[in-house]
Amino acid sequence: MGPSALRTAGLVNELRSLGYDTQDRGNIQPAPQRSVHHPNAILKGLAETVAWTEAIAQAAYEASADGVPICIGGDHSLSAGSMTGLARRAAEQGRAFFVLWLDAHPDVHTLTTTTSGNLHGVPMAYAMGLSSFENVFPPVAAPIDPLNVCMMGIRSVDAAEREVVRATGLTVHDMRAIDEQGVVPLLDAFLKRVSAADGVLHVSLDVDFLDPAIAPGVGTTIPGGATFREAHLIMEMLHDSGLVSSLDVVELNPFLDDRGRTAILLVDLVASLMGRRVLDRPTQSLGYISKPDA
Ligand code: MG
Ligand code: MG
Repeated sequence: MGPSALRTAGLVNELRSLGYDTQDRGNIQPAPQRSVHHPNAILKGLAETVAWTEAIAQAAYEASADGVPICIGGDHSLSAGSMTGLARRAAEQGRAFFVLWLDAHPDVHTLTTTTSGNLHGVPMAYAMGLSSFENVFPPVAAPIDPLNVCMMGIRSVDAAEREVVRATGLTVHDMRAIDEQGVVPLLDAFLKRVSAADGVLHVSLDVDFLDPAIAPGVGTTIPGGATFREAHLIMEMLHDSGLVSSLDVVELNPFLDDRGRTAILLVDLVASLMGRRVLDRPTQSLGYISKPDA
């Protein structure tokens, strides 16, 4: 229901009103299910997730030839498909693939280390090519270099994930880092690296990155998330950088939302990322201010 809620909240019209030629390619259908097995018996929906990963990877790969794909979900396991499809495209273009991961969680469990069995906790480990996925998930054509990943907003990390972060050298800016330094220097340093490498930048936005007080429509609410302004500032900086090639918006659960306000916030954040500015918004009290580009 997440994609439907984002459509209802006006995502496509918002992008069109910003001047983008926007196509809604509809809901993706999963590939035919294969029989797959892994010794960790706790894994939930394994065959379904593998089938979805195959289809999403292909769709993201194809869409990246035509423009800026925005993949809306749904479970964060979506990113197992989107990131591997998009990284494959970048590799074929001979360009480095970078990921900005906005989430309360690093989602770097492997199929072996997860104790919840929730596959929304594994996409980053899979896309980096960590072991345990072979012969279960589709092969990863172009594993993501952990040094090209920057995570922000992290505030819930399991012990096994902490070990992956340590061993791989992933950049993780937890909420304390944001509290102490603010988002600007943390994001700016990463964007400079992407730019210096002439890299392709993918952004993966999990709703639980945001504080549950402003974004209640998610199944994994963790207090102490990013504020409204921190989130918009990140999106505005990303737009200014001109570096973003693709985006995931995931984990919206409209059944847990409060009269659609999480969906509307997400549409607003995507609009910020795509270039909407506060002064462009028609409001009654500011109606006399002409648009800067008018
Ligand atoms: Mg996540
Ligand atoms: Mg999360």
